[in-house]
Amino acid sequence: MENTKMSLTVKVLLGMALGIIVGLFINLGGLNAPGSFVNENIVNGLFHVVGTMFINALKMLVVPLVFFSLICGVCGIGDIKMLGRVGGKSFALYMMTTAIAIATALLIATSFGIGKGMDQTTDIEFVGKESPPLTQVLIDIIPSNPINAMANGDMLPLIFFSILLGISMLLVGRKAKGLVEGAEVANEIMMKMVTIVMAVAPYAVFALIAKAIATLGLALLVSLAGYVAVLVGSLLLHLFVTLMIVLKVFSGLSPALFLKKIRNAQVFAFSTASSNATIPVTMRTVTERMGVNNSVASFTVPFGATINMDGTAIMQGVATVFIANVYGVDLGITGYLTVIIMSVLASIGTAGVPGVGLIMLSMVFTQVGLPIEGIGLILGVDRLMDMIRTAVNVSGDAVVSSIVAKSEGKMDLAIYNDPDAGVVGTHGLHIDEAVEKELADTIQKTHDHT
Ligand code: ASP
Repeated sequence: MENTKMSLTVKVLLGMALGIIVGLFINLGGLNAPGSFVNENIVNGLFHVVGTMFINALKMLVVPLVFFSLICGVCGIGDIKMLGRVGGKSFALYMMTTAIAIATALLIATSFGIGKGMDQTTDIEFVGKESPPLTQVLIDIIPSNPINAMANGDMLPLIFFSILLGISMLLVGRKAKGLVEGAEVANEIMMKMVTIVMAVAPYAVFALIAKAIATLGLALLVSLAGYVAVLVGSLLLHLFVTLMIVLKVFSGLSPALFLKKIRNAQVFAFSTASSNATIPVTMRTVTERMGVNNSVASFTVPFGATINMDGTAIMQGVATVFIANVYGVDLGITGYLTVIIMSVLASIGTAGVPGVGLIMLSMVFTQVGLPIEGIGLILGVDRLMDMIRTAVNVSGDAVVSSIVAKSEGKMDLAIYNDPDAGVVGTHGLHIDEAVEKELADTIQKTHDHT
């Protein structure tokens, strides 16, 4: 049992390493030339199909999982007043960590003076997209049509509707008991689906990484070495130092155990470059591996995937300093403060999907008066940077979930402190023959009765 338990994480990491090697081989060997056999059939054929199917499978789980787990979370919280506290605390912590992230990034980037004296010509064009104004973000929290919000996978309105539904079920009281029990079963079923999807992850992660590296290569990283080094350095610093200090100070939990347990979610975030698509894995990780009660996690995880983007904020800071230096613009202290405020606000209104950081960046640039075309300079490396920063974003969501749960007494420390708790293995994916028969009989009996 122990062996099969261990093997998934190891296999996923192996898939990732193999993906990097194969991707590099294809890229450096020039096998990815447009029209070539490998490019058409392997990179954009097999790898693309397997990778996208996997991302679809993860996205498929997000809406029903968030919906049912939030209903269970609200009904199972035991004290409805706690809901307000969980909301307030997580919001404050999410904003705080994002602000620290960007401030550190600005500090590091300015002290390295990245981009000074660099050529500003680029043939890659960037067309800035609008990110929604804050008033619209507020309005959109309330869905005019919940089904629509679900169909579009809009997190904040989905959270709002599910919480309101849970509260209304509590208000209806005993009569709603059947539905509460049903939601609990549905939640457990959704979690099982997460385990099934995770079981195929090693192959999918391989395909996703191999495709990304084969297409992008690492040559671009070299030409932008200064930007990339400072950005990656700041991201790692935030992940391993800042977030771990925040975790230790606010909750007293062991950072070493945290880092061990979060690894799977990080790999998923890295391969998909989407906090939203990673929600099922993050949710599973914080509840089953770290012992965060579902009443906290069902809210903090989807909420964090939407409003908390530490990694993205770091990229905003480093990119702003980089482009400002390339164009010889002096932002001054007001400019930097504007960047901090804008990045924090922009992270609230934008969902955790691939490439959203660039949209936020164009918003920041407009505010501080930097040329939007400058973004073209960093566009080539952005996908790889997106993968890394998404892993940091997701880690931040899990840190805040753990802190809030611990402070509310909603954390099972026995689970947190057990290094092997909730490890994904095939042991949870075994259909009991007796149960199978029993359920078939139930169906048969119900059928015969009607
Ligand atoms: N891809 C990131 C996320 O999903 C957002 C970004 O930085 O573009 O969290």
